[in-house]
Amino acid sequence: MYLPDKFGENVFNDDVQKERLPKDIYKALRATIESGSRLDVSIAGSVASAMKNWAMSKVATHYTHWFQPFTGLTAEKHDSFIEPEGDHVIMRLTGKSLIVGEPDASSFPSGGSRATYMARGYTAWDPTSPAFVKGTTLYIPSIFVSYTGETLDKKSPLLKSMRALDTQAKRILKLFGIECKKVSTTVGPEQEYFLVDEEVYEKRKDLRLTGRTLFGAPATRGQELEDHYFGVLKPRVEEYMRDLDETLWSYGIPSKTRHNEVAPAQHEMAPVFSTTNVAVDTNMLTMELMRKVAKKHGLVCLLHEKPFEGINGSGKHNNWSMSTDTGFNLLDPGDEPENNTLFKLVLAAVIKAVDDYQGILRASVASAGNDHRLGANEAPPAIISVYLGDQLGALVDSIVKGVDYVHVEPEKGSIDVPESPIFPKDATDRNRTSPFAFTGNKFEFRMLGSQFNVADPNIVLNTIVAEVFEEFADELEAAKDIEKAAAALTEKTLKAHQRIIFNLDGYGPDWEPKAEKRGLLNNKNTADAVPVFFEKKNIDVFVNQGVYTEAEAIARADIQLENYVKTINIEALTMLQMAKQDILPAVSDFVAELCGNVAAKKAVSESIPCETEKTLITKLSTLNDRFSTEIAKLEMELSKIDKEDVKPASQAMAHVIVPQMAVIRAIADEMETMTSADYWPYPSYFDLLYSVN
Ligand code: ADP
Ligand code: MG
Repeated sequence: MYLPDKFGENVFNDDVQKERLPKDIYKALRATIESGSRLDVSIAGSVASAMKNWAMSKVATHYTHWFQPFTGLTAEKHDSFIEPEGDHVIMRLTGKSLIVGEPDASSFPSGGSRATYMARGYTAWDPTSPAFVKGTTLYIPSIFVSYTGETLDKKSPLLKSMRALDTQAKRILKLFGIECKKVSTTVGPEQEYFLVDEEVYEKRKDLRLTGRTLFGAPATRGQELEDHYFGVLKPRVEEYMRDLDETLWSYGIPSKTRHNEVAPAQHEMAPVFSTTNVAVDTNMLTMELMRKVAKKHGLVCLLHEKPFEGINGSGKHNNWSMSTDTGFNLLDPGDEPENNTLFKLVLAAVIKAVDDYQGILRASVASAGNDHRLGANEAPPAIISVYLGDQLGALVDSIVKGVDYVHVEPEKGSIDVPESPIFPKDATDRNRTSPFAFTGNKFEFRMLGSQFNVADPNIVLNTIVAEVFEEFADELEAAKDIEKAAAALTEKTLKAHQRIIFNLDGYGPDWEPKAEKRGLLNNKNTADAVPVFFEKKNIDVFVNQGVYTEAEAIARADIQLENYVKTINIEALTMLQMAKQDILPAVSDFVAELCGNVAAKKAVSESIPCETEKTLITKLSTLNDRFSTEIAKLEMELSKIDKEDVKPASQAMAHVIVPQMAVIRAIADEMETMTSADYWPYPSYFDLLYSVN
């Protein structure tokens, strides 16, 4: 049985800090964590020593700065605590080693800016996210910056964006007489994933090299019966989830919800939300642990956005809000939202931010993997829109139309079962098709891909909302009557941004043309979505909020495109190899066997019918020839692309290579359905999706 006191046992958390640090040191550290005051470096020595002693009690011998370079993954480089003294060693972690690290990090992606500032990268302790012990190593969450201070990671801009929002949100709150030390954004990321049997997985080159299947005819049974969603957990899956939860809890990650998802072999885990930077770190750790725990169970956890064609892919819902250190949620409408001027103003600000910067919000979730979801009928479309639900929708309508608001009572949902209590129907969203939905006291940004570092979209979200808060505060600080001025600004803002509000079905066929008429962006792939980052207005917002310099903003968009080009290139090369070395010869061998069978029959008697074999021989030979031609075409197109020149290269990948890969796949999948399973070189979709019991 899991004991609650084991929760967070691997974390140097508040309790441990309180217990192990001298009182004044503890206070100084908490001040930095809670109100964002500058870290007093003189306390580092004392904290380092306490951290090391605690870590050693957890059998740690090493420490590492743990950071998030632009690879999309986390990075670590372990140093031991040992320091020789004569014939012996002592175990030491100095304040300096806690605060700064100097990994030789010149091989991380830097977006073409290596020449200018990639001289040396430094890692620096981020005290706002707790250190933890994993295995025999103390992990110290860190940011990663260059010698001259440019950010080389996702964590430092995230912290800067949180700082920007904190600064501007406090200005707004102050106008309404609310004083607080800090406004933090909060995030609860719901994480989807697939589990497949390890033995089956090992036989799939595509899954191993690219995280997704590049070939594979659909199983005869997909998700059409809708029986997997919330279905009974299979014993092996249940065991996995139990182990995963206990592991996550030991790292202080409050895993709360677990269930089967829509597609066969697909599942979800949702934690209780936390401050955004902690949510980012713990989500990165969660993904790593999901994979690790799976291995213990002979399973592989797939976090790719689209491991399988024909069934749902995996996303991550980014539940986002803003709260003061005193626990006041800025997105809580309260009982009477119509009389809540502050809430309406905040709502208007978020709506304006999402509308004005829809391009970068969309671009922040663009990747080769996510391109398979957004716009396909399983995830929100590639068009950003805001869903408000019945109650807030009516409220916003009344403001825009200048009519009195008629309170929308949450509908009482009687289920007509006398034994069961009557429950109020949720007045907020059950519209799962909206990319950016208001859900009670938070917004849920649903476009994220499952393997994303959630830092990316949250950097954008925090920055753009901070920008609008700043604009609002500038205007309102000059006002004599804040209630009146805020109401007028809210009305003006909501009127100007009606186009971004959409309360109907985002999957419906009429939404795309309608959205186009409204002038909303609809960038369907990464190559088309990311370049908006290079537009002046979008660079300006980052620069103005102190989140990126112009060079950094451009560099990070370059890296995103570069990553896209590299990913598609690897997929195409893997596809070519599988096609040429495995599939083509397999089909040819099977055809040869069929020919042999025909010859054998003929040898016995000319009159034995061979139509089945002959038809199959003709069909497969024709398809295999076409396969061959299309492979050559892909090879030729791929060789024409200069992968270093990322803008044109990304265009070619999106508009030439990806469609050509689809052509090749379609032929292979058709051949798979006609080729003897004994000859087909890879486990089928059936094997992959139904092997875990
Ligand atoms: P769903 O119906 O989608 O499961 P829930 O209300 O259960 O929605 O919440 C989903 C996620 O939203 C959880 O991770 C939860 O902790 C998180 N969440 C709830 N409140 C907030 C908030 N104020 N800020 C950020 N995330 C939140
Ligand atoms: Mg959700």
